[in-house]
Amino acid sequence: MRKQIAAANWKMNLTYLEGQQLLGDILENDLGSKDHHEVIFAVPFPYLIMAKEKTTSLKNYFIAAQNCSNKKSGAYTGEVSVDMLDSINIKHCIIGHSERREYFNESNQMLAEKLNLLLEKDITPIFCCGEPLDIREANTQNDFVETQLKESLFHLSADDLKKVVIAYEPIWAIGTGKTASTEQAQEMHAHIRSVLANQYGADVANEISILYGGSVKANNANEIFASPDVDGGLVGGASLVALDFIEIIKALK
Ligand code: PEP
Repeated sequence: MRKQIAAANWKMNLTYLEGQQLLGDILENDLGSKDHHEVIFAVPFPYLIMAKEKTTSLKNYFIAAQNCSNKKSGAYTGEVSVDMLDSINIKHCIIGHSERREYFNESNQMLAEKLNLLLEKDITPIFCCGEPLDIREANTQNDFVETQLKESLFHLSADDLKKVVIAYEPIWAIGTGKTASTEQAQEMHAHIRSVLANQYGADVANEISILYGGSVKANNANEIFASPDVDGGLVGGASLVALDFIEIIKALK
């Protein structure tokens, strides 16, 4: 079975102490014990080492960065490099979140550069894609997402592609309380898998976990995750409440 993943994206929320408390509350339930499950916490940079220390002895729990630089090193004030993440043993990193694409002008090309740096260090990229509302309303979301995949991922070898986790996050569903319907999510996830299959073959495409993100909550995770091509979720708001995120972890197939 493909890996089923519950990934928390804390974004720019919580103080250090609040973050410590939240992690402690979730981890004391130790829910990530099924072999094909992974629970990932994407925490702010200053909390990475603390979060890593809290999870190192636990199976199937991982800590992710929320972003990394597309430059290797040098005079880029305020940036955090992949080598820095590697040096503190971080094994996952979100890239291309729609908030980064929109507010920090991240392009598909820039994300291709980040992917290369992450894969060189054997860090799993959680690559976000997804369409804005006007594209969904024009019913051109399949082409839009296909272009994001092609321009950022298609230079990779099949072996490298297999190391990538994809998160489909329709922008109109992020933080809005509006989720894609199970049909809309399944349809796009199947489309993403078929785009990957056309380029890399069905065997490769079938190995790749594709997460859904966009207002996943404790009360809808079961239904969303049940779809055959949905392999868990990338969760913003609901990952900040221990009991809610625990329910979301429990909803993994
Ligand atoms: C996200 O930021 O990745 C996200 C999906 O947020 P939310 O769950 O709050 O919609």
